[in-house]
Amino acid sequence: MIKNSVEVAVIGGGAAGIAAARKLAAHRIDCLIVEARSRLGGRAFTVREPSGFALDLGCGWLHSADCNPWAAVATAQGRQFSKATPPWGRATMTKVMPLETQRAFRAAMADLFERVAQAAATGRDRAISELVPADGRWTGMLNAVMTYIAGAELDRMSTIDLDRYEDTELNWRLVDGYGAMIAASADGLATALDCPVTRIDHSGKRIRIETPRGVIEADRVIVTLPTSIIGDNEGLFFPALPAKTEAARGLPLGLDDKLFIALDGAEEFEAESRVFGRTDRAATGNYHFRPFGRPLIECYFAGRWAHELEAGGDKAFFDFAVSELTGLFGADFARRLKPLCLHQWGADPYARGSYSYAIPGAADQRAVLAAPVDDRLFFAGEACSRHDFSTAHGAFITGSEAADHILAARRINPSP
Ligand SMILES: Cc1cc2nc3c(=O)[nH]c(=O)nc-3n(C[C@H](O)[C@H](O)[C@H](O)COP(=O)(O)OP(=O)(O)OC[C@H]3O[C@@H](n4cnc5c(N)ncnc54)[C@H](O)[C@@H]3O)c2cc1C
Repeated sequence: MIKNSVEVAVIGGGAAGIAAARKLAAHRIDCLIVEARSRLGGRAFTVREPSGFALDLGCGWLHSADCNPWAAVATAQGRQFSKATPPWGRATMTKVMPLETQRAFRAAMADLFERVAQAAATGRDRAISELVPADGRWTGMLNAVMTYIAGAELDRMSTIDLDRYEDTELNWRLVDGYGAMIAASADGLATALDCPVTRIDHSGKRIRIETPRGVIEADRVIVTLPTSIIGDNEGLFFPALPAKTEAARGLPLGLDDKLFIALDGAEEFEAESRVFGRTDRAATGNYHFRPFGRPLIECYFAGRWAHELEAGGDKAFFDFAVSELTGLFGADFARRLKPLCLHQWGADPYARGSYSYAIPGAADQRAVLAAPVDDRLFFAGEACSRHDFSTAHGAFITGSEAADHILAARRINPSP
């Protein structure tokens, strides 16, 4: 039996929902996380592969680590950090991609961000692709790297939104997984798992949350669902909230999928190094060798190319990785590779993508999505964040802010 009446229902038990519920519970507010999956964490998801390594299939990097609120939670849990410079922060694998080429690409990337800042300063939003030549030397790779950052290619992304992203450029990881730490931080919170919400009826005095396991009534609700779920489901709210549907559609989830491969004879490669399959097109993989020094390759496939790979199933990812890696290291390299695990976030019914980006013209939709409705319905989740969107810490901050709004609202208008 699930609890059928609470003061606050938090819909979605990912980073935002957990952060919100932790704060409410700390204030002794009766709250319940209502989660569709049989696990907490959402897009924060650590698995253990047979040799015992914790692998983050969702978020892995504590971006802006010096002001990332999850870092304090991880410290309180006694977690071990890796503070090694990420592979994108330095030149690596120079035998495969010469240093001069890496420097030239780094300069092209810096130039792109400069152009984005200048374009955003005009106040007129447009697609980032308008800022780069269609057939420039680095256009393919700029698109590829942007898909790893945002899940989408330059032609789909708003300049103003990207310009608003803030990054202190300090990136840490957790040896036992970012996802595992986030899920563990929900210990002790009241949860209803395997409980997908089908409708949020806010027409009456109390809000009715409909699920296949029964109706839960609440005085206030925090919705932390991914934009893919809100945007695709006009009937989610009753009465309908068209502004929320439209905002969510302006902030779709891009796609980024990770494949982990075991690598025989890994010591031949430098730890924390990386290489791209190709430097002249967007449809390529990014291969992170020996993360944490482990005998693995962490492969990233993103954007439209990841959608195509998902259509081919798990095997398509591994086959493609092998084809690119043998292209770089020779045909014999294939024998050293064994697929370990992959999660297809686009096919995941409770994510339907990886992280949000704003389409041109939609940067301000983040604030629209985040705005409370009638001081009873509150919104959180990475897509609601103005400066830290797409990230687990952005999700945390919005969840914590939604909890603050509830604390303020109930001081003015206490729950019955
Ligand atoms: C491959 C990948 C790599 C990433 N890398 C990083 C990284 O390195 N660093 C970083 O900071 N971020 C990264 N991210 C992004 C980060 O994981 C997300 O931004 C963050 O976890 C989102 O948290 P959230 O609470 O907003 O959403 P979610 O985690 O999606 O939480 C929403 C919850 O709602 C649940 N739900 C969905 N539908 C229903 C329903 N109908 N009823 C009830 N519950 C429902 C979902 O199951 C989920 O648990 C990555 C994500 C992916 C996929």
